[in-house]
Amino acid sequence: MQQPLIFDIKRYAINDGPGIRLTIFFKGCPLSCAWCHNPESISAKQQKLFTKSKCIGCGECVKVCPLGAMTMTAVSPVTDPLKCQLCGECAEVCPTRAIEMSGRHYQIAELMEIVEKERPFFAQSEGGVTISGGEPLLHPDYLLRLLRACGEQHIHRAVDTSGFCSPEILLEVAKHTDLFLYDLKMIDDGLHRRFTGVSNRRILDNLQLLAVSGAQITLRIPVIGGVNADAGSASAIADFVAGLEGGARDVHLLPYHGVAAGKHLKLGGQYDEGLMREPSTEELKRFGSCFAARGLGVVVGG
Ligand code: SF4
Ligand code: SF4
Repeated sequence: MQQPLIFDIKRYAINDGPGIRLTIFFKGCPLSCAWCHNPESISAKQQKLFTKSKCIGCGECVKVCPLGAMTMTAVSPVTDPLKCQLCGECAEVCPTRAIEMSGRHYQIAELMEIVEKERPFFAQSEGGVTISGGEPLLHPDYLLRLLRACGEQHIHRAVDTSGFCSPEILLEVAKHTDLFLYDLKMIDDGLHRRFTGVSNRRILDNLQLLAVSGAQITLRIPVIGGVNADAGSASAIADFVAGLEGGARDVHLLPYHGVAAGKHLKLGGQYDEGLMREPSTEELKRFGSCFAARGLGVVVGG
């Protein structure tokens, strides 16, 4: 069975479902959203991150590399990606954590030990575990085992998904999920392909399927100036949501902000903001009004 790498486990998360949550992030995503806040989540493989501002130039990483993949420049070390085998030894010796390895395997029992420690916070706040990514449904066997293990302990389970997966897997996961945090980005397929790299047909079909199944769904809509914050996009999304079986859903609008740039730099890439920008107050208001006009409330954030 293929086991995903996990790139982060966030304690005390308050924007990933009800109450205080432990959010577990799987690596690997079939989408590559231009605004992705966690670019290290896109590749399913382990990656090395480097934060230049933390480097004190001690050279320990260069000395320890068994493959001679690192060299020191006047300002900081550089890694030859053709030589580096991601063994992680450089990260182990780095005294300032300027180098970090992103992604490691966890056994389910190991994750459950971490979950167990958070129980008092879940109990106080009616919180639970959220499984996010990346796309957790890329790893259905492991995801189902984790969801079942949480269910056996009566822990509330939320799954944060792009909805880009097979309908059969989605419905199977739904049997073991208390709440879906379902990302809905735009209705226009051409725009979706342009900004995420994939068609949204399957995503929209799966959302309708999930709604018909009676699953609990919170919709999460990124609002991005220059991409989907215009009146036409907002109306199209609101129409689609209003037409879902089962009526009103919780809708959370997530205003874009350019925080991803730092993470892209850590991965050795550049972040091209292009046309993307924070939505204006008017654009956010208009988004909210589009939903209100169809009898749907929205929350900004979360
Ligand atoms: S991860 Fe291993 S192989 Fe890659 S640069 Fe660091 S020490 Fe060398
Ligand atoms: S070990 Fe860390 S702090 Fe020292 S040179 Fe390497 S990256 Fe910089």
